[in-house]
Parts: sequence; C-alpha cells; structure tokens
Amino acid sequence: MTRYVFITGGVVSSLGKGLASAALAALLQARGYRVRLRKLDPYLNVDPGTMSPTQHGEVFVTDDGAETDLDLGHYERFTGLPASRADNVTTGRIYLDIITKERRGDYLGATIQVIPHVTNAIKSFVLDSDGEDDFVLVEIGGTVGDIEGLPFFEAIRQIGQERPRGSVCYLHLTLLPYIPSAGELKTKPTQHSVKELRSIGIQPDILLCRCDRPIPEDERRKLGLFCNVRESAVIEARDVDTIYAVPLSYREAGLDREILAHFGMEPPQEPKLDRWQKILERVRNPEGEVTIAIVGKYTGLKDAYKSLTEALTHGGIANNVRVNLEWIEAEVFEREDPAPFLEGLHGILVPGGFGQRGAEGKIRAARYARERRIPYFGICFGMQMAVIEAARSLAGIADANSTEFGETKEPVVGLLTEWMRGNELERRAAEGNLGGTMRLGAYGATLTAGTKIAEMYGDTEISERHRHRYEVNMAYRECLEAKGLRFSGTSPDGLLPETIEHEGHPWFIGVQFHPELKSRPFEPHPLFKGFVAAAVEQSRLV
Ligand code: GLN
Repeated sequence: MTRYVFITGGVVSSLGKGLASAALAALLQARGYRVRLRKLDPYLNVDPGTMSPTQHGEVFVTDDGAETDLDLGHYERFTGLPASRADNVTTGRIYLDIITKERRGDYLGATIQVIPHVTNAIKSFVLDSDGEDDFVLVEIGGTVGDIEGLPFFEAIRQIGQERPRGSVCYLHLTLLPYIPSAGELKTKPTQHSVKELRSIGIQPDILLCRCDRPIPEDERRKLGLFCNVRESAVIEARDVDTIYAVPLSYREAGLDREILAHFGMEPPQEPKLDRWQKILERVRNPEGEVTIAIVGKYTGLKDAYKSLTEALTHGGIANNVRVNLEWIEAEVFEREDPAPFLEGLHGILVPGGFGQRGAEGKIRAARYARERRIPYFGICFGMQMAVIEAARSLAGIADANSTEFGETKEPVVGLLTEWMRGNELERRAAEGNLGGTMRLGAYGATLTAGTKIAEMYGDTEISERHRHRYEVNMAYRECLEAKGLRFSGTSPDGLLPETIEHEGHPWFIGVQFHPELKSRPFEPHPLFKGFVAAAVEQSRLV
C-alpha cells in the first residue's frame, strides 16, 4: 500500500518546504523505502515557463520536457530520482484541462464546479501512480490561508477520508520566531496557522517547526496541547549552515521515526546515511577555494539560478574545494570595462537567459575569458553569446547577432523552427504561442572524439535537457571553425549545434543544453567537475 504524506506550509512563505520534502524523502529512501515526490502549485499559470525567474525562481526542466517548479530540482538532487511531467501541476493546468473538456462537450448537461470537478482532477493527479511506491510525498505550494490554495487543501482533505485508515499523514511546516525582547521562541503564529488548517478540515499529524535555537520543553508541550498533536510529533527543524545538513538534522530530530510511528510501521532498517555524512564533511572541510564569476541578468534573486549554484557546489565537492560565487549583472559590462571586475577570478560562467538586456555585457565577458585564457562556461544563452563574440572578433563578422533581439543581417544565432524528437519532426512558427513551445527536455547529442568536452564526459554519446527557442546557425560553422571555434558536438543527425569550444584555450566550453539540471551531490556533473578543476588550475596561476 502506498502511504501519502502531505506537506503544507504555514505562518510565512520561504520556510523551505521543498527542501524539507526532499530531505524527508531522502531519509525514507535511506531506510530502504521507495519514494516519489510531487508538487501542487496553486497559481494560475499553466506552468512556470512563462514567469519571470526574478519572481518565481528557476524553471526546472524534466527529461520529458515539462517546465516545472524549482522544488523538483531539490527532489531530484536529494533522491537521485528523475522527476517527470506527472510530478507537478498548477491550478492553471487543472482548469485548462477541465475547460477544454467542457468545451468539447465531455460533461454535457452538468454544471462544472470546484467541488467535485476541480478537486477530483487534483485527486487523480495525486493518486495517479498509486501502488507503485511505498511513499508519495506531496508538497502544496503557498501558505495555508491563501485563497487560491483552497481547492488543493480540500482535495487532500478528501484523500485523507477516502484512503484506508492510517495511510495518510499531514505534515505542517511552520515558523517559531525568536523575539529578543521576550527572550522566547513564540508559538502563537503556529497555533494560528494550525487553527486555519483545522478550519478547512485538516488536522496536522506532525509539526515541523523552523527555529534558530532549541525548542524548550514548555513550548513543545504548549504546541502539542494547543495544536492537538502529540508532543513527540513536534519536530525541531533548526537552521543549519548548509542544505546538505538537513537530512541528518531531521534524522536527529526524529522526523522519520515519527512519520513511521504515525503509519504504525516498523522500520526495516536504520537509515543508511553515510553518503550524506560524507557529502557534509566535504562541504564543511574543503581543502581550498576558487571564485567564479556568474555574469547573468537575474542576479537579484539567487533562486533564479538554483540548479546552477547547486551544480557548482557539486563541482566543488568533486574537487574538494569551496566554490565562491561573484554575481555580476551583465549590463554593468555595457558601461564599464570588465577587467577590474573579473581580474583575479578563476572562472567565468554565463548562464541561460532570455532577451536582449545584458546580452552585450555577456559578449564582453566571453571575450575577456577568451583573450585572458580564463576558464569559461557558457550555458545555453551563454554559448550563443560566446559564438557571437567569436564571429565578431575572430571571423570579422561585425554585425553578428541573434534574431532573438530583432532582425539582423548576420543571424549567427537564429530561431529554431524544426527539429527531431526521436523519429518525429517538431515544428514551430515564428509567431506561435510562447508557453511550452520551446525545444524542451532530454535530447541526445553526439560529441566529436578528441575534443575537450568528450574528454570531460569520457563518452561521445550524451543526453541532456534543453530549453531554448534559438540555436547557433550552422551556416556559420565553417568560417568559425576556421578561426578555432570548434563545433564539438551536434544533435545525432548532425543538424543542430549542441556544444562549442575554443581550440587551444585551457577551458572554454559552451553548451546549448542545461547540464546543471542533472548534477547531483553524489554524482557531480562532469562539466561542472571539469570547470571547477580548470578554475583550480587557474587559481594556481593568479
Ligand atoms: N534565449 C535563448 C533561446 O531561447 C537561450 C535560452 C536559455 O538560455 N535557456 O534560445
């Protein structure tokens, strides 16, 4: 029988519900259970693909090409299990499906309502793979009390009534703020949040309490009493120095024990957490450090580059160094010389991005890295800008540009209108819809043996996740290769460029895909491992 754990949040947002869910999944997994994680997002966008990264954070792309919430990235990194389209749904998606059916006449004669139509759709999403796993952990986005979250709370309430007794657990993540003038951790906000939850019919079984210091016995008792949970079910989620400490700290606080006790399950084994211990030791005790510049345009919100910063940390773990990040707004380089900003740094990374703002700054960053022989890693947009740079500076194509920014005489980067997905041709029109129509998800690529990138992978056949609408124009391949910019990898049919590198440069690689999405603490991505290793080399020179 599959057990369901619903994870809700209270008091304030940003308590780290996604991480909490991922860490709990890792603990259950460490006990030998099969787990799956899902996320319900109450906003009206059909998916986060059309939202600004500065508002919503990164868009996480799955192998099967879904644009999903960044929490799915935490899930993948902590459990090593690939997420899919079936693991994230939004209000927008649910309504779109229902309204499409209504228009088609599927419900002829009926009045379509939130209960039961919307709630039923949510329930079937949650229960979709019932029986396949020991545990399905379902995180509900937002905070209890949000109007838009109500149908989701109602749906999970119903599931609690309909499933066999003892197969559903409600876990509520809250905050115990410390008030210095009172010298106390305050329980009232949690009490209110639980009251709100109970008013819609959900009695939490476990409280996971974020706090910056131990919860005193009295407060624990109070929480149990006023929130109607067992004292042992008041679990301390103390602030930790790194996210890699979360599973171990939950373990110490007894979270997994309490979950199993709730389900009346005898744990088959103590959790095997040595791999977490090892990672934590490495993160806490690096042997050296490097500093990498990230030249981007969403640097105001670090969540916009969540997988990227994690992948760099993984690259650091693989090389036993701490990776410090220097965030630089690309636009700055349009006004100022990059040299004073980049001098002495050990690597330059230009990440994915959309739109013209900051593009010229990124081109200048690529130029600096090429000329000064500093390790450069260009991801998606970062590869496109590096190619434009090479076209302008090395091939003498002064007007080289991307059609993403408007018409250009020299479309070195142009709109992608046709590509193969397996044996099928996918087509996009220039004036088509923007939502969910990019080249998305896992595609294979073939690397040329003997290139730096093939050396990094130790392989010539790879598969990576994509999310782009433009591509480097193959018509310019020959003249760029003549100048030392090698097209080191292409789609298996040879039609689309996938990777580039500058010959003779210590480490200058651009990729059209997003390798950061597949990096894991236990399996650092080869490109991030290689890039950080190159930065370590560079640090010995400067
Ligand atoms: N804007 C570029 C494109 O659509 C790059 C996308 C990205 O970096 N993810 O191709």
